[in-house]
Amino acid sequence: MRIESKLPNVGTTIFTVMSGLANQVGAINLSQGFPNFNPSERLQQLVTEHMARGANQYAPMPGILPLRERIAEKIERIYGAKVNPDTEITVTAGGTQAIFCAIAAFVRPGDEVILLEPCYDSYRPSVETMGGFPVVHALSAPDYQVDWEAVKKLLSPRTRMLCINTPQNPTGTILRASDMLKINELLRGTDVVLMSDEVYEHLIFDGEKHASALCYPELYARSLAIYSFGKTYHNTGWKTGYCVGPPELTREFRKVHQFNVFSANHPMQAAFADFMADPSEYLGLPAFYQQKRDVFLQAMSATRFKPLHCAGTYFQLFDYSAISDEPDLDFCKRLTTEFGVAAIPVSSFFSDLKDEKVIRLCFAKTEDLLKLAGEKLRLC
Ligand code: GLN
Repeated sequence: MRIESKLPNVGTTIFTVMSGLANQVGAINLSQGFPNFNPSERLQQLVTEHMARGANQYAPMPGILPLRERIAEKIERIYGAKVNPDTEITVTAGGTQAIFCAIAAFVRPGDEVILLEPCYDSYRPSVETMGGFPVVHALSAPDYQVDWEAVKKLLSPRTRMLCINTPQNPTGTILRASDMLKINELLRGTDVVLMSDEVYEHLIFDGEKHASALCYPELYARSLAIYSFGKTYHNTGWKTGYCVGPPELTREFRKVHQFNVFSANHPMQAAFADFMADPSEYLGLPAFYQQKRDVFLQAMSATRFKPLHCAGTYFQLFDYSAISDEPDLDFCKRLTTEFGVAAIPVSSFFSDLKDEKVIRLCFAKTEDLLKLAGEKLRLC
């Protein structure tokens, strides 16, 4: 049998490759983005309590209503937007599944989707699986600023979607209100859907405010905004998130979601619904992660790695051109095997593998581990 791959250029993701190598050689794993500490004890208890009480069968397709109600309250509290939990919020099996469903629901064969690279590695294959064509606006180190006039030139009658991510993985940059207003202006009068990946909404530093698509009513009317409990409550392995969009878009999103996973896992949803009643945990996140960023930067200050500015996410980029001119993938593999610290090469977030000698390190780690990584990298 001849198999004609829909994704001929896709291999194993860089996150799997680098985490695998880190585990194999016992390196400190700052590659794949995940915390090395546990979620709150109380949240874990709530999951087991809900299991004991019987939340073990399918949750309703869009998510349990109490959780969608808590999410709507949170959105009103922090973004001042009123969304209907019944028709505008869908609980998903994590951010990546929500991104896939958003793309699958709207992108047809031959449609174009504008990506701002470097971007999370699932966007492109999700577009290609649906027969769409990624159209790339490539950003450049060190500041990765978006040139909206250049993006405007990429718009065509075939453009179906624009994907943004703020705070952005892997760059650590953020979009501000002026960017969101610019996007609104660019898309006015078109049929382009905005996929706004906001999974790092709370990981934003130095007093900056997250500019959510939910804050701009005209823009929201064409948006699907995507969130992740994993990033907010330190449980990326629970694979739970949600998608917020106006009823017309949510209706289409759910048509795909119901046949993709049907519903997200039930006991976690019930636990999050209880736990979200107290906003202090997520309100404290900017300070919690800013402290980690700063401890890590301090630990790295005695190395030859040059930090780029990190305004948000739990990723810190470093320029290593003063250390080596090796391709970034080779450099990351050598860092892992010879120096005991695993990183992600930023070229893997560019479709043309643009190599600017920049690596990404995840600082969602305990302070002792961040300090130890800094000590190891001093030898480099
Ligand atoms: N979002 C995480 C990262 O960028 C990884 C997710 C994954 O492993 N697919 O590191």
